[in-house]
Amino acid sequence: MSAESATAAAPLALAEVLRAALAECRARVERFRSARGGEPLAVLREFDRLLQPLNGVEGRVGLFVAAHPEAEVRERCEGFERALAELRTELSLERGLFERLVALDERELPEGEPRRLLGHALRDFRRSGVDRDAATRARLRGLQEELVVLGQEFDRNIIAGGRELVIHEGPAALDGLPADFVAAHPPRADGTLVLGTDPHVRMAFLTYATRGDLRREYYQVATNRAVPQNLGVLPRLLAKRHELATTLGYAHWADYATEDKMTRSAAAARGFLERLLDKVRVRARAERDELLSFKRRREPAATAVFEWERAYWLEQVKAERFQLDSLALRSYFPFARVKQGVLDTAAELFGLEFRRARSAEVWHPSVECWELHEGGELRARFYFDLFPRPGKYKHAAMFPVQDGLSGETLPEAVLLCNFPEPSAGDPALLLHDQVTTFFHEFGHLLHHVLAGRGRWLAFAGIATERDFVEVPSQLFEEWAWDPAVLARFARHVDSDEPIPAELVRKLRAAEDYGKGLTTETQLFYGLLALGFYDRDPRALDLSAEMIALKERTCCLPHTDGTHFHASFGHLNGYSALYYTYLWSLVIAKDLLTTFQERMMGREAALRYRRCILEPGGALDAAEMVCEFLGREYEFAAFERWLVE
Ligand SMILES: [Zn+2]
Repeated sequence: MSAESATAAAPLALAEVLRAALAECRARVERFRSARGGEPLAVLREFDRLLQPLNGVEGRVGLFVAAHPEAEVRERCEGFERALAELRTELSLERGLFERLVALDERELPEGEPRRLLGHALRDFRRSGVDRDAATRARLRGLQEELVVLGQEFDRNIIAGGRELVIHEGPAALDGLPADFVAAHPPRADGTLVLGTDPHVRMAFLTYATRGDLRREYYQVATNRAVPQNLGVLPRLLAKRHELATTLGYAHWADYATEDKMTRSAAAARGFLERLLDKVRVRARAERDELLSFKRRREPAATAVFEWERAYWLEQVKAERFQLDSLALRSYFPFARVKQGVLDTAAELFGLEFRRARSAEVWHPSVECWELHEGGELRARFYFDLFPRPGKYKHAAMFPVQDGLSGETLPEAVLLCNFPEPSAGDPALLLHDQVTTFFHEFGHLLHHVLAGRGRWLAFAGIATERDFVEVPSQLFEEWAWDPAVLARFARHVDSDEPIPAELVRKLRAAEDYGKGLTTETQLFYGLLALGFYDRDPRALDLSAEMIALKERTCCLPHTDGTHFHASFGHLNGYSALYYTYLWSLVIAKDLLTTFQERMMGREAALRYRRCILEPGGALDAAEMVCEFLGREYEFAAFERWLVE
């Protein structure tokens, strides 16, 4: 599939391309299933390519669901997405495919990738239930299909919940917020202000709004944005997954979901989180106490810091303690410079060249197409879709659109973000937090495109264990914290002075200041996801469970009447695996020890590229890390970072 034809923004073109690809896949499956014997390596290669016609098409369907400007196309693509999921489920339960593979003698295959591929394929078939009787297979298939619909419904309710806070007291309600935020929220004709619940609005209002009573009201609205809908959808989603896992012989969904990850079991994932909870508790409480004493200077009778106050008081403490004003700091991060800085950092580290492809077809005028060149050769293509618009995905993510195969297809990926958009007279200043987000997502992108030169589709791109996926992204964030790296591109929008190293060090100290509370919140999320999935959900009162867990793990009290879990989107996508972020962070901090002396060191970067990024799914993550570090990964670096 050439990129040119598939980027066509017209839904009809995509529908036709998809129909043709599906027909070709079915023909390949039929040929494979009905053939007998064959040279093992050739059989394996044929198996690996069964769904190759969908490469580049399926990714675009997912992309358009999240980012196409026309609601009609997004909806149509959701339908395509269901059809694709159905095909994958059908094939995962297709006896004919399994029997052809199970008949192969592993010893007749070359060692390394071919044997690994066969082992993984058989494991995945068994995890689907292909070896069960016909009635069980039919039930499993039904469950998979119901799960796709429920998952889409859960996600849609979070985006479309579209709650708003209507404020009746005019512009004074926005005291404390930056000028561009105020300008973006002008009063309506009747004098009221309307605040939506998109993440960038949430973050800004809860961090900067001076009026505590409005933050409290807004927090209620934002945290309940998918209530009551998802309070109904979530129990059904959990119950179906539990039924699927137990039908396959697992104790619960969490054991099923972790089996093929680095942790291998729900108990190991839980043990990991509990160990960190122990380590972080003291620090988190000390931070909470400091926020409280700070708050008491203004409100002497205060007895607690509440959830809607955490970001605000953290910001206030940081401003005083580190003399740091995060809004003023934005002057060093005009959008265009940051974008160029991300590209230049990656180019220099890994010896790459990025060129803008201005004539490429895109799905929205603000989207940019870029090419990655190396040694004079085109190696990958990627797209930046970086600004918010109605109906678009609200967070930041890398969407792999096409897997790369040596000599056959170029890898392709898209970054979907929601940064402020520059316009005439407004360079669009980014918070440093948004700068690290840009680096984070670009880290994912580098992983996907640099793992696009292999020989097996099954291992192409970010096909590594899912709890390792956040390692390259969290590691790449570290370049956004290095004074020397930042000085290359972060220049003051008025004076053109590079950001002073001293200021970056203060910024880092301020960021680290809240890490007890931040880590504690991440642990709450991780344990919540595990706790919903590592038991029979029919016996669970989800709201009560969430509150009890919050009381056990977090040092800020629960806010009555809020239902965080109803809009915790990762409960669908990551399911039980939210712990991934912390698990990956532990490994990322360990890998960072190699770069700490010299962040722009080419030798370490190229070794990292070869050992960790390029293999994609061709090796176990633990093996790749061992190859890079010369030892097994350990907790020491993370724990030092946590307590220092
Ligand atoms: Zn990520």
